[in-house]
Amino acid sequence: MPTYEYTCTACKKKFTLIMTLSERDKKRVSCPRCKSRKVTQRFTSVHTQTSSKS
Ligand SMILES: [Zn+2]
Repeated sequence: MPTYEYTCTACKKKFTLIMTLSERDKKRVSCPRCKSRKVTQRFTSVHTQTSSKS
């Protein structure tokens, strides 16, 4: 199943959701911390190394 990474624009929390494409279309993604719907999806490529601490 694909993994989707989101960043909350309200509280800056980054979180990951695992769901199917159809689930993603149906669901309203909200921040797990502040429940804000103001989230942006982060597209990550397979070869990206996640070493950022910013
Ligand atoms: Zn938030």
